Amino acid sequence: MEQTRLVKYADLIIKAGINLQENQTVVISSPIETAGFARVLSEAAYDKGAREVVIDWNDELSKRIRYMKAPSEIFDEYPEWKKQFYQFYADGGAAYISIAAEDPELMKEVDPERIMRAQKVANKANKKFRDRLMSNENTWNVVSVPTVSWAKKVFPDLTQEKAVESLWEAILTSVRVDTSDPVRAWQEHKKNLEQAIDWLNKERFQQLHFENSLGTDLFITLPKGHIWTGGAEVSQQGVDFIANMPTEEVFTLPHKRGVNGKVVSSMPLQYNGNLIENFSMIFEEGKIVDFSAEKGYESLKGLIQTDAGSAYLGEVALVPHDSPISNTGILFYNTLFDENASCHLALGKAYPVCLENGTALGETELDKAGVNDSLIHEDFMIGTGDLTITGIKENGHQVPVFTKGNYAMKW
Ligand code: ZN
Ligand code: ZN
Repeated sequence: MEQTRLVKYADLIIKAGINLQENQTVVISSPIETAGFARVLSEAAYDKGAREVVIDWNDELSKRIRYMKAPSEIFDEYPEWKKQFYQFYADGGAAYISIAAEDPELMKEVDPERIMRAQKVANKANKKFRDRLMSNENTWNVVSVPTVSWAKKVFPDLTQEKAVESLWEAILTSVRVDTSDPVRAWQEHKKNLEQAIDWLNKERFQQLHFENSLGTDLFITLPKGHIWTGGAEVSQQGVDFIANMPTEEVFTLPHKRGVNGKVVSSMPLQYNGNLIENFSMIFEEGKIVDFSAEKGYESLKGLIQTDAGSAYLGEVALVPHDSPISNTGILFYNTLFDENASCHLALGKAYPVCLENGTALGETELDKAGVNDSLIHEDFMIGTGDLTITGIKENGHQVPVFTKGNYAMKW
């Protein structure tokens, strides 16, 4: 990829993504395969006034070797220094950039139980840090850069080089880098999303009903005081930032105990190096009471059984079927992209910012208000070209929200 476009991408992430403040520290989590781009990001951050750029390298192949060969007991351990690493910079007000790029099926030979235990112990150790980010106490941004193994999965018929090049093109187009002023293009994009957000916030639906021919027939109650949001976030210090690039979704939280019916997945879900495909779940009073998966059943089971909150929903997000990423027709096997091509739900923790006054409430009050808590937050895609969503108001009045996969309203 040409250096000038990479620099433009990095500038966009630093300026609009985390919206770096003078003298702020930046922590970048990067796979070693994407080191080249992490360095470009690092330079861009210093050029824009960063105090220090700290890089948290990870190597998925070493991780796989560890999963395959290490004695079982280590998967219940998490080192204190690593927990302190994240917490230390968070306490100092750092901004976090995470490069999401993984081989979607790297861990398929690994015992899913090992992955589940390791994930659980890591999430538990880092709960305070993760809660901090999910409450926007620190600014954060998730982006992607191609790796060879990921690109080959997305474009199996192309040569390695062509596959990487094609994935780069798809990524850079989706984040609007090739516009003359990408930061401005994002401001306009935000305004477009705000039209849907404003409408949904005005309608104040008590319930949403999702239906399609895959078999989804799901009622989702929205808690009193729910807030639809999307496009951009505001940190608790008042700094605008963009948590995901790309982002095409508007989202809020379901009432933890107010979800009933069946939901069927519309795309594979990549979770911890495994693919979960053609899966469905049945909800009663918010809780998953039954589930199935044609592929990756054990991974799905591990995900749902992580803790008490992982069998409940924490997010409902709307994305038109006719949207830029969906229209590329590419299945990315990476949730950052696939979730922005499809309406989706998330298992696990809800964003307290989606409830009026939510960030000021304690654990018990949040639960009472219907805000789910969990060690996990995992989006999965349910949108299709024939999806219907009906909004139901407190007085029973019904309003079409989506017809044939797209907003029923035109703005
Ligand atoms: Zn989402
Ligand atoms: Zn989510």
